Order: sequence, then structure tokens, then C-alpha cells
Amino acid sequence: MEAFTLRGGVMHAEDVALPAIAEAVGTPVYVYSRAKLTAKARAFRDGLARLGSAHGPPHLAFAIKANPNLAVLRVLGREGYGADVVSGGELTRALAAGIAPEEIVFSGVGKTHEELIQGLEAGIGQFNIESEEEGRELAALARDAGLRPHCALRVNPDVDARTHAKISTGRRENKFGVPLDRAGDIFAALAREGGLEMCGVAVHIGSQLADLQPLEEAFARLGALIWELRAAGHTITHADLGGGLGVSYRHDETLPTAAQYGAMVARVTRGWDVRLSFEPGRFIAAEAGVLLTRTIRTKRSGNGPPFVVVDAAMNDLARPALYGAHHEFEAVAPTGARMTAHIVGPICETGDTFAIDRECDALTAGDLAVFRTAGAYGATMASSYNSRGFVPEVLVDGDRFAVVADRIAPAAIMAAERVPEWLA
Ligand SMILES: *Cc1c(COP(=O)(O)O)cnc(C)c1O
Repeated sequence: MEAFTLRGGVMHAEDVALPAIAEAVGTPVYVYSRAKLTAKARAFRDGLARLGSAHGPPHLAFAIKANPNLAVLRVLGREGYGADVVSGGELTRALAAGIAPEEIVFSGVGKTHEELIQGLEAGIGQFNIESEEEGRELAALARDAGLRPHCALRVNPDVDARTHAKISTGRRENKFGVPLDRAGDIFAALAREGGLEMCGVAVHIGSQLADLQPLEEAFARLGALIWELRAAGHTITHADLGGGLGVSYRHDETLPTAAQYGAMVARVTRGWDVRLSFEPGRFIAAEAGVLLTRTIRTKRSGNGPPFVVVDAAMNDLARPALYGAHHEFEAVAPTGARMTAHIVGPICETGDTFAIDRECDALTAGDLAVFRTAGAYGATMASSYNSRGFVPEVLVDGDRFAVVADRIAPAAIMAAERVPEWLA
């Protein structure tokens, strides 16, 4: 299903005309479609329909760093998704959204002492341990508390995910997981510690993967590790295959479908005899959101294409500045006229550029437009750089919509600052 379509010449989110949202909430604003979130959550689940084992159906944990909005988490929780969290703040959100603790997986290379305690006290379903040191610290805390948390050891399979370097996590030189060739020893050491129920292995090689082959290679290596661990006498009942499945950011791009991904997973995990877990983020949320923005003005400099200066900026949507990412840019009420332009925000950095030499709908001052595929790694990466406010978020459901995150005004951010007495 398409969530953001033209009806009567005006772009709608489901049944709500985007100008109505701009009118009510102002711009820039993220707009999410509940129907699209649900459709993607179901597509991912359906893609894995042929999996399952004596240990149960696959466990689905939405990687909430992709979109941690409470309303989004509530939608996905209702679809049966748990949460993959990477900080104490995300754990607090997952619980606040009503996700059961046993459905929560805690990943991340730098869980602090306090965060480990928070996870233990919450009674989460699984810790994904990223180093021997972390495992020993958790074991000591668990023994003190008389607890025995379920743990998986995250391994670094040394596979090139062939994605952007900044979101590639499975090469030997990356900080994530333990090296595959040391995994057997570290697993044994942590199992001997006492305090931890070492029952699984985990892998996550990166994000926005356009190709299934690196994933298959990583999973095959994880499978070999499972048999090595079993041969050493360990009981392995869980394997967490992470996230990473990409989405098309360009209209003319085709990426692997959930069904193709599921078929690959079924092939490579045949006979593993474990409960599989998945941690999709981007695949679920990216296409369910747009960033709605208004053109402030257009300007020319020299003979090149004009600049279209919009009211959204790199602080609201960081991906283009951070990764050189492409987002399709479309007028909310296209006239049919086209232009070639540089699309930029108001921030005082040349990095605040969404597109160079982009062929797009003709826009003039005051016109609304959207950046598509902004539902993942969008609002969550926002900052208040240039003393801009935090961008609000809206969730659409059929013909109704609600503000699910307020705009945080620059004055509210400033209110948290203090000038010390000795500067008065
Ligand atoms: C970021 C992350 C994910 C989600 O990645 P996507 O590409 O958004 O699916 C899953 N697992 C872990 C451990 C992550 O860090």
C-alpha cells in the first residue's frame, strides 16, 4: 500500500491532506502513517512465515533507535513486536509504550553499569553481550541480585555489508561484538562465570543493506559457531539475526523484499533448532514517514541552478548531511512544471544541503513539499543546532491525525541552561 499519494492534485497521508497538517501544526513536521507502519510490520512477519521451530515462532523486536516515538512503538507493539533497545533511555521508552519486558532485547557496545542494572531490574528478555568485559560485569551484578538473565553473545563475523561505512557494523575493525575466532572461548568463559544463562548468539552487520549476500554469509558463519558451541557442550536455543534490511530511497531502486529475505533466512538456518530473533528498524518505519516542509524562498547565485531554501534543515533530518543520503523531494500540490535546483535548509553550514542539481517539482516561496522515506532515522536524530526547535511528529490514522510529539521551542531548550552566579 502507498501511504502518501496525490488525491485531487494534493498529497495526502492516508485520507488526510498534508496542507491541513501544515496548517494545524506548522512546518517542518514529520508525518507518519499508521497503516503503512502496520503494513510493513506485517510484511516482515509474513516474509518469515515459513520459519519457526520447536522453540517457537520468530521473535520480532523493532529496533527502536530507528523511530522511538511512543505512539509508533504502541502501533508496533499491537502488531506483536517487542523492542531492540540500545540505551537506558530506549528501555524506558519501550516499557512506557507498553512493551512487555520479556519482549525486550538490550543491544549496544557501551551499556553502562547503571544500564545493566536497569535491564536486570526490568526483567528484560535478553541481553546481547558485546564483550567479555561486559559479560563479566553483568554476571557479577546478576549474581548479587540472585538473577540469571538470558544472554546471547554478539559476534562480529567480519563480513562487509556493502553499505555506507558509517552504518556498517560487521567488519573486524568495527567496534561491535566479539571476533568470531574468539567467540568460543569467550562464550565458555561467560558460561562458567555463573549468573548468566548463556543460551544464544547474535549478529548485526549493518543497516540499509541492499544485497542479501553479506547477510547470508554472516548468518552462515553464525550457524557454524552454533555447532561449534554445541560440540563444546553448550546448549544453544536462541539466535538473533539482527536488522539491516534496506528500503528504496529512490523511486527507480528495487531492494530485496521481506519474502526474499525470509527465503534466504529459511535456507541458511535450516536445521539450526533455535528460536530466531530479528531486529528490523528501517524496514518497518522508513517508508511510513515523510518530513513535511515549506519553501521559505528560492534564490539564484551565479548561472547555476537556483537554490530552493526550505524550512527543514540538517538538524531535523540529518541523513543527507551525515551519509550523503538521498530522499525523494516532491511538491505537495505539484503543478506539473519541473525545475532543476539545489535543495537546502537555512542552517549556516554548506552541509545543510538535501540535494544538488535535483530535477524536481517547480516550487516557489510558500509552497509545501515533502522529503520521502523519512520515518526511520529522521526525527530521532534531530538536534537543536542553530537554536532551532525540535521538530514535531504527527501520526495519521485514516482520516484522523494526532500530534505525537510536540514541537519543542528554542525557548524551552534555553530554559534548561543556567548562567552561574559568578558570571552574573
Ligand atoms: C541499528 C540496529 C538494528 C536495526 O537496524 P536497521 O537497519 O534499522 O534494521 C538492529 N540491531 C542492532 C543491534 C542495531 O544496532
